[in-house]
Amino acid sequence: MAEPPFIIQLAGYVLDFHQRNRCRRCGPDGWCPRVAMARAQLTVWRQRKQHAGGADATTEHPARGDGSA
Ligand SMILES: [Zn+2]
Repeated sequence: MAEPPFIIQLAGYVLDFHQRNRCRRCGPDGWCPRVAMARAQLTVWRQRKQHAGGADATTEHPARGDGSA
């Protein structure tokens, strides 16, 4: 199985971190832009993976054209 792209590994790390901790960007209500972005990236990646059928390793960048300037 191919390793997920670096950006996806990072997204997973951000979510994992927020299970127990808060970062500087976490709001008082618990919402965090980093978590929101990480979730979006993981969602896109999973959808692309399903689309590709899981046979080939993806060399494209999953976050491409996904809203972040
Ligand atoms: Zn945070």
